[in-house]
Amino acid sequence: MPDRAPRPVDRQLPTEESKDLVALVRDIIEREIAPWAAEEEEAGHFPRELFTLLSESGLLGLPYDSAHGGGDQPYEVYLQVLEELAAARLTVGLGVSVHSLACHALAGYGTKEQQAQYLPAMLSGGLLGAYCLSEPASGSDAASLRTKAVRDGDEWVITGTKAWITHGGIADFCTVLARTGEEGARGITAFLVPGDAPGLNAAAPEKKMGMKGSPTAQLHFDGVRVADGRRIGEEGQGFAIALSALDSGRLGIAACAIGLAQAALDESVEYATGRRQFGRPIADFQGLRFLLADMATRIEAGRALYLAAARLRDAGRPFSQQAAMAKLFCTDTAMQVTVDAVQVLGGYGYTVDFPVERFMREAKVLQIVEGTNQIQRMVIARHLAGPETR
Ligand SMILES: Cc1cc2nc3c(=O)[nH]c(=O)nc-3n(C[C@H](O)[C@H](O)[C@H](O)COP(=O)(O)OP(=O)(O)OC[C@H]3O[C@@H](n4cnc5c(N)ncnc54)[C@H](O)[C@@H]3O)c2cc1C
Repeated sequence: MPDRAPRPVDRQLPTEESKDLVALVRDIIEREIAPWAAEEEEAGHFPRELFTLLSESGLLGLPYDSAHGGGDQPYEVYLQVLEELAAARLTVGLGVSVHSLACHALAGYGTKEQQAQYLPAMLSGGLLGAYCLSEPASGSDAASLRTKAVRDGDEWVITGTKAWITHGGIADFCTVLARTGEEGARGITAFLVPGDAPGLNAAAPEKKMGMKGSPTAQLHFDGVRVADGRRIGEEGQGFAIALSALDSGRLGIAACAIGLAQAALDESVEYATGRRQFGRPIADFQGLRFLLADMATRIEAGRALYLAAARLRDAGRPFSQQAAMAKLFCTDTAMQVTVDAVQVLGGYGYTVDFPVERFMREAKVLQIVEGTNQIQRMVIARHLAGPETR
Protein backbone atom coordinates (compact mmCIF):
# COMPACT_ATOMS: atom_id res chain seq x y z
CA MET A 1 0.00 0.00 0.00
CA PRO A 2 1.40 3.49 -0.79
CA ASP A 3 2.51 5.42 2.27
CA ARG A 4 0.69 8.57 3.26
CA ALA A 5 2.50 11.77 4.11
CA PRO A 6 3.13 11.85 7.87
CA ARG A 7 0.71 13.75 10.08
CA PRO A 8 2.08 17.31 10.62
CA VAL A 9 3.84 17.82 13.95
CA ASP A 10 3.07 21.11 15.71
CA ARG A 11 6.54 22.64 15.73
CA GLN A 12 8.04 25.64 17.48
CA LEU A 13 10.02 27.32 14.72
CA PRO A 14 12.03 30.49 15.33
CA THR A 15 11.20 32.55 12.19
CA GLU A 16 8.61 32.99 9.45
CA GLU A 17 11.30 31.87 6.99
CA SER A 18 11.73 28.58 8.84
CA LYS A 19 7.95 28.03 8.86
CA ASP A 20 7.90 28.52 5.08
CA LEU A 21 10.80 26.12 4.78
CA VAL A 22 8.99 23.36 6.68
CA ALA A 23 5.87 24.00 4.56
CA LEU A 24 8.01 23.56 1.41
CA VAL A 25 9.44 20.32 2.80
CA ARG A 26 5.95 18.99 3.57
CA ASP A 27 4.87 19.80 0.05
CA ILE A 28 7.83 17.89 -1.42
CA ILE A 29 7.12 14.97 0.93
CA GLU A 30 3.47 14.81 -0.11
CA ARG A 31 4.20 14.95 -3.83
CA GLU A 32 7.60 13.34 -4.26
CA ILE A 33 8.47 11.10 -1.30
CA ALA A 34 5.59 9.55 0.65
CA PRO A 35 3.65 8.00 -2.25
CA TRP A 36 6.64 5.88 -3.33
CA ALA A 37 8.44 5.22 -0.06
CA ALA A 38 7.20 1.67 0.58
CA GLU A 39 7.44 0.53 -3.03
CA GLU A 40 10.93 1.94 -3.59
CA GLU A 41 12.28 0.56 -0.31
CA GLU A 42 10.93 -2.87 -1.22
CA ALA A 43 12.63 -2.59 -4.64
CA GLY A 44 15.90 -1.27 -3.14
CA HIS A 45 15.66 1.87 -5.28
CA PHE A 46 17.64 4.97 -4.30
CA PRO A 47 15.84 8.14 -5.45
CA ARG A 48 18.86 9.97 -6.90
CA GLU A 49 16.68 12.39 -8.87
CA LEU A 50 14.88 13.38 -5.66
CA PHE A 51 18.24 14.40 -4.16
CA THR A 52 18.84 16.65 -7.15
CA LEU A 53 15.48 18.27 -6.45
CA LEU A 54 16.33 18.64 -2.76
CA SER A 55 19.66 20.20 -3.70
CA GLU A 56 18.07 22.64 -6.14
CA SER A 57 15.44 23.51 -3.50
CA GLY A 58 18.23 24.45 -1.07
CA LEU A 59 17.58 21.49 1.23
CA LEU A 60 21.02 19.83 1.00
CA GLY A 61 22.93 22.76 2.46
CA LEU A 62 20.58 24.15 5.10
CA PRO A 63 22.97 24.60 8.05
CA TYR A 64 25.79 26.07 5.95
CA ASP A 65 26.82 29.59 4.96
CA SER A 66 24.76 31.19 2.18
CA ALA A 67 27.99 32.71 0.81
CA HIS A 68 28.79 29.17 -0.41
CA GLY A 69 25.30 28.11 -1.47
CA GLY A 70 24.04 27.06 1.96
CA GLY A 71 20.77 27.98 3.64
CA ASP A 72 22.06 29.86 6.72
CA GLN A 73 19.61 27.96 8.91
CA PRO A 74 20.24 27.23 12.59
CA TYR A 75 20.62 23.58 13.53
CA GLU A 76 17.32 23.81 15.39
CA VAL A 77 15.59 24.30 12.03
CA TYR A 78 17.75 21.99 9.93
CA LEU A 79 17.13 19.09 12.32
CA GLN A 80 13.37 19.56 12.25
CA VAL A 81 13.51 19.41 8.45
CA LEU A 82 15.46 16.16 8.75
CA GLU A 83 12.85 14.82 11.17
CA GLU A 84 10.10 15.56 8.64
CA LEU A 85 12.01 13.86 5.81
CA ALA A 86 12.83 10.78 7.91
CA ALA A 87 9.21 10.43 8.99
CA ALA A 88 8.32 10.15 5.31
CA ARG A 89 11.25 7.89 4.36
CA LEU A 90 14.35 7.16 6.43
CA THR A 91 16.54 6.63 3.36
CA VAL A 92 15.90 10.28 2.45
CA GLY A 93 16.31 11.80 5.92
CA LEU A 94 19.45 9.81 6.63
CA GLY A 95 20.77 10.52 3.12
CA VAL A 96 20.46 14.28 3.70
CA SER A 97 22.13 13.89 7.10
CA VAL A 98 25.06 11.90 5.65
CA HIS A 99 25.45 14.41 2.81
CA SER A 100 25.60 17.21 5.37
CA LEU A 101 28.18 15.22 7.37
CA ALA A 102 30.29 14.87 4.20
CA CYS A 103 30.23 18.67 3.71
CA HIS A 104 31.22 19.42 7.32
CA ALA A 105 35.00 19.00 6.92
CA LEU A 106 35.39 21.41 4.02
CA ALA A 107 32.89 23.95 5.41
CA GLY A 108 34.57 23.95 8.82
CA TYR A 109 38.26 23.42 8.05
CA GLY A 110 38.83 24.14 4.34
CA THR A 111 40.72 27.22 3.16
CA LYS A 112 38.74 30.13 1.71
CA GLU A 113 39.94 29.11 -1.75
CA GLN A 114 38.85 25.49 -1.30
CA GLN A 115 35.47 26.55 0.02
CA ALA A 116 34.89 28.94 -2.88
CA GLN A 117 35.95 26.28 -5.38
CA TYR A 118 34.09 23.22 -4.10
CA LEU A 119 31.32 24.12 -1.65
CA PRO A 120 28.70 25.71 -3.96
CA ALA A 121 28.34 22.52 -6.02
CA MET A 122 28.28 20.40 -2.85
CA LEU A 123 25.69 22.51 -1.01
CA SER A 124 23.27 23.42 -3.78
CA GLY A 125 24.69 22.35 -7.13
CA GLY A 126 23.16 18.88 -7.28
CA LEU A 127 26.13 16.85 -5.98
CA LEU A 128 25.72 14.04 -3.44
CA GLY A 129 28.34 13.26 -0.80
CA ALA A 130 29.70 10.32 1.18
CA TYR A 131 31.63 10.26 4.45
CA CYS A 132 34.38 7.63 4.52
CA LEU A 133 35.72 6.84 7.98
CA SER A 134 34.89 3.17 8.75
CA GLU A 135 36.95 0.27 7.44
CA PRO A 136 36.52 -3.50 7.53
CA ALA A 137 38.80 -3.81 10.58
CA SER A 138 38.13 -0.44 12.23
CA GLY A 139 34.61 0.57 13.22
CA SER A 140 34.20 1.77 16.80
CA ASP A 141 37.99 2.03 17.07
CA ALA A 142 38.08 4.44 14.15
CA ALA A 143 41.49 5.89 15.07
CA SER A 144 43.07 2.55 14.09
CA LEU A 145 42.14 3.02 10.42
CA ARG A 146 44.67 1.78 7.87
CA THR A 147 43.79 3.40 4.54
CA LYS A 148 47.00 5.21 3.62
CA ALA A 149 47.70 8.46 1.84
CA VAL A 150 51.30 8.87 0.73
CA ARG A 151 52.64 12.16 -0.56
CA ASP A 152 54.03 12.22 -4.11
CA GLY A 153 55.09 15.77 -5.06
CA ASP A 154 51.96 17.94 -5.16
CA GLU A 155 49.71 14.90 -4.96
CA TRP A 156 48.61 12.26 -2.48
CA VAL A 157 48.17 8.59 -3.40
CA ILE A 158 45.40 6.89 -1.42
CA THR A 159 45.27 3.11 -1.00
CA GLY A 160 42.97 1.01 1.16
CA THR A 161 39.36 -0.01 1.72
CA LYS A 162 36.56 1.94 3.36
CA ALA A 163 33.54 -0.03 4.60
CA TRP A 164 29.82 0.60 5.12
CA ILE A 165 29.83 3.78 3.09
CA THR A 166 26.38 5.31 2.70
CA HIS A 167 26.02 6.43 -0.95
CA GLY A 168 29.09 4.29 -1.75
CA GLY A 169 29.26 3.89 -5.52
CA ILE A 170 26.87 6.76 -6.30
CA ALA A 171 28.40 9.69 -4.40
CA ASP A 172 29.85 12.55 -6.43
CA PHE A 173 32.37 13.40 -3.71
CA CYS A 174 33.81 11.57 -0.73
CA THR A 175 35.26 13.03 2.45
CA VAL A 176 37.96 10.47 3.20
CA LEU A 177 40.01 9.97 6.36
CA ALA A 178 43.38 8.36 5.65
CA ARG A 179 46.61 7.70 7.50
CA THR A 180 49.45 10.03 6.56
CA GLY A 181 51.60 9.61 9.65
CA GLU A 182 52.02 7.82 12.97
CA GLU A 183 49.68 5.17 14.39
CA GLY A 184 46.63 6.42 16.26
CA ALA A 185 44.47 9.54 16.10
CA ARG A 186 47.28 12.01 15.35
CA GLY A 187 48.40 10.36 12.10
CA ILE A 188 45.16 10.89 10.17
CA THR A 189 44.38 13.49 7.48
CA ALA A 190 41.14 14.41 5.68
CA PHE A 191 40.77 14.61 1.88
CA LEU A 192 38.04 15.57 -0.55
CA VAL A 193 38.03 12.90 -3.27
CA PRO A 194 35.90 13.07 -6.43
CA GLY A 195 33.51 10.11 -6.71
CA ASP A 196 34.79 9.29 -10.19
CA ALA A 197 38.52 9.45 -9.37
CA PRO A 198 40.53 6.83 -11.31
CA GLY A 199 41.30 3.86 -9.02
CA LEU A 200 38.21 4.40 -6.83
CA ASN A 201 35.82 1.46 -7.14
CA ALA A 202 32.73 0.42 -5.20
CA ALA A 203 31.92 -3.16 -4.24
CA ALA A 204 28.37 -4.47 -4.65
CA PRO A 205 26.01 -2.85 -2.13
CA GLU A 206 25.53 -4.69 1.18
CA LYS A 207 22.31 -6.70 1.48
CA LYS A 208 20.82 -5.09 4.56
CA MET A 209 17.98 -5.78 7.00
CA GLY A 210 16.39 -2.41 6.25
CA MET A 211 17.02 0.89 4.48
CA LYS A 212 17.33 -1.17 1.35
CA GLY A 213 16.88 1.91 -0.80
CA SER A 214 20.00 3.49 0.72
CA PRO A 215 23.10 2.02 -0.92
CA THR A 216 25.84 1.00 1.56
CA ALA A 217 29.05 -0.30 0.01
CA GLN A 218 32.76 -0.82 0.48
CA LEU A 219 34.95 1.60 -1.46
CA HIS A 220 38.31 0.38 -2.71
CA PHE A 221 41.02 3.01 -3.16
CA ASP A 222 43.65 1.57 -5.46
CA GLY A 223 46.32 4.25 -5.81
CA VAL A 224 43.78 7.10 -6.06
CA ARG A 225 45.61 10.37 -6.76
CA VAL A 226 44.37 13.67 -5.37
CA ALA A 227 46.03 17.07 -5.51
CA ASP A 228 47.31 18.54 -2.25
CA GLY A 229 44.67 21.23 -2.85
CA ARG A 230 42.11 18.58 -1.87
CA ARG A 231 43.65 18.00 1.55
CA ILE A 232 41.31 19.43 4.18
CA GLY A 233 42.92 21.02 7.24
CA GLU A 234 46.44 20.27 8.40
CA GLU A 235 48.24 16.96 8.09
CA GLY A 236 47.35 14.99 11.22
CA GLN A 237 44.21 17.04 11.93
CA GLY A 238 41.88 14.57 10.23
CA PHE A 239 40.68 12.66 13.25
CA ALA A 240 39.73 15.84 15.12
CA ILE A 241 37.85 16.96 11.99
CA ALA A 242 36.10 13.57 11.76
CA LEU A 243 34.98 13.72 15.39
CA SER A 244 33.76 17.29 15.05
CA ALA A 245 31.67 16.24 12.03
CA LEU A 246 30.26 13.32 14.03
CA ASP A 247 29.14 15.57 16.92
CA SER A 248 26.90 17.40 14.47
CA GLY A 249 26.05 14.26 12.48
CA ARG A 250 24.80 12.50 15.61
CA LEU A 251 22.21 15.21 16.05
CA GLY A 252 21.06 14.44 12.51
CA ILE A 253 20.69 10.76 13.39
CA ALA A 254 18.75 11.71 16.54
CA ALA A 255 16.33 13.83 14.51
CA CYS A 256 15.87 11.06 11.93
CA ALA A 257 15.15 8.60 14.76
CA ILE A 258 12.42 10.82 16.17
CA GLY A 259 10.88 11.18 12.69
CA LEU A 260 10.79 7.42 12.29
CA ALA A 261 9.31 6.94 15.77
CA GLN A 262 6.66 9.59 15.11
CA ALA A 263 5.64 7.83 11.89
CA ALA A 264 5.29 4.55 13.82
CA LEU A 265 3.21 6.24 16.53
CA ASP A 266 0.91 7.84 13.94
CA GLU A 267 0.29 4.45 12.30
CA SER A 268 -0.36 2.91 15.72
CA VAL A 269 -2.92 5.52 16.78
CA GLU A 270 -4.74 5.33 13.48
CA TYR A 271 -4.90 1.55 13.58
CA ALA A 272 -5.87 1.34 17.26
CA THR A 273 -8.79 3.74 16.82
CA GLY A 274 -10.09 1.83 13.76
CA ARG A 275 -9.54 -1.81 14.75
CA ARG A 276 -12.33 -3.36 16.87
CA GLN A 277 -12.13 -6.36 19.19
CA PHE A 278 -14.58 -7.40 21.92
CA GLY A 279 -17.05 -4.97 20.33
CA ARG A 280 -14.91 -1.87 20.91
CA PRO A 281 -11.97 -0.08 19.28
CA ILE A 282 -8.78 -1.60 20.67
CA ALA A 283 -7.74 1.97 21.57
CA ASP A 284 -10.38 1.70 24.36
CA PHE A 285 -8.31 -0.86 26.23
CA GLN A 286 -6.10 0.57 28.92
CA GLY A 287 -3.32 -1.87 28.06
CA LEU A 288 -2.98 -0.22 24.64
CA ARG A 289 -3.79 3.32 25.78
CA PHE A 290 -0.87 3.24 28.20
CA LEU A 291 1.41 1.79 25.52
CA LEU A 292 0.48 4.65 23.13
CA ALA A 293 0.96 7.19 25.93
CA ASP A 294 4.45 5.85 26.68
CA MET A 295 5.40 5.89 22.98
CA ALA A 296 4.25 9.51 22.61
CA THR A 297 6.03 10.58 25.81
CA ARG A 298 9.36 9.06 24.72
CA ILE A 299 9.09 10.81 21.35
CA GLU A 300 8.42 14.22 22.93
CA ALA A 301 11.32 13.71 25.35
CA GLY A 302 13.63 12.75 22.48
CA ARG A 303 12.57 15.75 20.40
CA ALA A 304 13.17 18.08 23.34
CA LEU A 305 16.61 16.52 23.94
CA TYR A 306 17.87 16.87 20.37
CA LEU A 307 16.49 20.41 20.13
CA ALA A 308 18.19 21.40 23.40
CA ALA A 309 21.52 20.11 22.03
CA ALA A 310 20.90 21.91 18.72
CA ARG A 311 20.23 25.18 20.53
CA LEU A 312 23.53 24.84 22.40
CA ARG A 313 25.26 24.34 19.06
CA ASP A 314 23.45 27.33 17.56
CA ALA A 315 24.58 29.45 20.51
CA GLY A 316 28.22 28.44 19.91
CA ARG A 317 28.37 26.49 23.18
CA PRO A 318 29.90 22.99 23.66
CA PHE A 319 27.33 20.33 22.73
CA SER A 320 29.30 17.10 22.25
CA GLN A 321 27.98 15.40 25.40
CA GLN A 322 24.40 16.48 24.67
CA ALA A 323 24.72 15.27 21.06
CA ALA A 324 25.79 11.83 22.31
CA MET A 325 22.88 11.80 24.78
CA ALA A 326 20.42 12.81 22.05
CA LYS A 327 21.74 10.14 19.64
CA LEU A 328 21.56 7.48 22.36
CA PHE A 329 18.11 8.37 23.68
CA CYS A 330 16.41 9.14 20.36
CA THR A 331 17.64 6.01 18.58
CA ASP A 332 16.76 3.77 21.54
CA THR A 333 13.35 5.47 21.46
CA ALA A 334 12.95 4.71 17.76
CA MET A 335 13.77 1.05 18.40
CA GLN A 336 11.35 0.75 21.33
CA VAL A 337 8.52 2.68 19.67
CA THR A 338 8.72 0.76 16.39
CA VAL A 339 8.69 -2.59 18.23
CA ASP A 340 5.66 -1.38 20.19
CA ALA A 341 3.99 -0.24 16.96
CA VAL A 342 4.20 -3.78 15.55
CA GLN A 343 2.59 -4.99 18.79
CA VAL A 344 -0.27 -2.47 18.48
CA LEU A 345 -1.07 -3.73 14.99
CA GLY A 346 -0.94 -7.39 16.09
CA GLY A 347 -0.57 -9.88 13.24
CA TYR A 348 -1.10 -7.15 10.64
CA GLY A 349 1.90 -5.34 12.06
CA TYR A 350 4.05 -8.33 11.16
CA THR A 351 3.15 -8.12 7.47
CA VAL A 352 4.44 -5.93 4.68
CA ASP A 353 0.89 -4.61 4.18
CA PHE A 354 1.58 -2.02 6.88
CA PRO A 355 4.76 0.08 7.13
CA VAL A 356 5.52 -0.63 10.81
CA GLU A 357 7.50 -3.82 10.12
CA ARG A 358 9.77 -1.76 7.83
CA PHE A 359 10.05 0.97 10.46
CA MET A 360 11.16 -1.65 13.01
CA ARG A 361 13.86 -3.01 10.67
CA GLU A 362 15.00 0.51 9.84
CA ALA A 363 15.20 1.64 13.47
CA LYS A 364 17.90 -0.91 14.28
CA VAL A 365 20.55 0.70 12.12
CA LEU A 366 20.19 4.02 13.94
CA GLN A 367 21.54 2.39 17.12
CA ILE A 368 24.68 1.40 15.14
CA VAL A 369 25.68 4.24 12.78
CA GLU A 370 27.85 7.26 13.64
CA GLY A 371 29.05 5.55 16.81
CA THR A 372 27.10 2.64 18.29
CA ASN A 373 25.05 3.40 21.37
CA GLN A 374 27.75 1.76 23.49
CA ILE A 375 30.19 4.33 22.08
CA GLN A 376 27.73 7.15 22.88
CA ARG A 377 27.70 5.98 26.50
CA MET A 378 31.52 6.05 26.49
CA VAL A 379 31.45 9.64 25.18
CA ILE A 380 28.94 10.72 27.83
CA ALA A 381 30.87 8.97 30.62
CA ARG A 382 34.12 10.68 29.53
CA HIS A 383 32.43 14.04 29.96
CA LEU A 384 31.32 12.96 33.44
CA ALA A 385 34.34 11.09 34.75
CA GLY A 386 37.22 11.96 32.44
CA PRO A 387 39.06 9.57 30.12
CA GLU A 388 39.45 5.91 31.10
CA THR A 389 42.70 5.33 33.02
CA ARG A 390 43.92 2.63 30.62
C1 LIG B 1 23.76 0.96 7.09
C2 LIG B 1 25.06 1.50 7.58
C3 LIG B 1 25.53 2.70 7.07
C4 LIG B 1 26.77 3.20 7.49
N1 LIG B 1 27.25 4.34 6.91
C5 LIG B 1 28.53 4.73 7.19
C6 LIG B 1 29.12 5.83 6.47
O1 LIG B 1 28.47 6.47 5.62
N2 LIG B 1 30.41 6.13 6.73
C7 LIG B 1 31.17 5.46 7.63
O2 LIG B 1 32.32 5.81 7.82
N3 LIG B 1 30.63 4.43 8.34
C8 LIG B 1 29.34 4.04 8.12
N4 LIG B 1 28.80 2.97 8.81
C9 LIG B 1 29.63 2.25 9.75
C10 LIG B 1 29.21 2.43 11.20
O3 LIG B 1 29.59 3.70 11.64
C11 LIG B 1 29.89 1.28 11.99
O4 LIG B 1 29.18 0.10 11.66
C12 LIG B 1 29.86 1.53 13.48
O5 LIG B 1 30.72 2.58 13.83
C13 LIG B 1 30.29 0.27 14.26
O6 LIG B 1 31.46 -0.28 13.76
P1 LIG B 1 31.51 -1.85 13.42
O7 LIG B 1 30.33 -2.19 12.61
O8 LIG B 1 32.85 -2.15 12.89
O9 LIG B 1 31.31 -2.58 14.84
P2 LIG B 1 32.43 -2.86 15.95
O10 LIG B 1 33.18 -1.61 16.23
O11 LIG B 1 33.19 -4.07 15.61
O12 LIG B 1 31.49 -3.15 17.21
C14 LIG B 1 30.81 -4.39 17.41
C15 LIG B 1 30.10 -4.32 18.75
O13 LIG B 1 31.06 -4.11 19.81
C16 LIG B 1 30.70 -2.96 20.54
N5 LIG B 1 31.91 -2.28 21.01
C17 LIG B 1 33.03 -1.98 20.30
N6 LIG B 1 33.92 -1.35 21.07
C18 LIG B 1 33.35 -1.24 22.29
C19 LIG B 1 33.77 -0.68 23.56
N7 LIG B 1 34.96 -0.07 23.69
N8 LIG B 1 32.91 -0.75 24.60
C20 LIG B 1 31.70 -1.35 24.48
N9 LIG B 1 31.25 -1.89 23.32
C21 LIG B 1 32.06 -1.84 22.26
C22 LIG B 1 29.91 -2.09 19.58
O14 LIG B 1 29.07 -1.17 20.27
C23 LIG B 1 29.11 -3.15 18.83
O15 LIG B 1 27.99 -3.52 19.58
C24 LIG B 1 27.53 2.49 8.45
C25 LIG B 1 27.03 1.29 8.98
C26 LIG B 1 25.83 0.80 8.55
C27 LIG B 1 25.33 -0.51 9.13
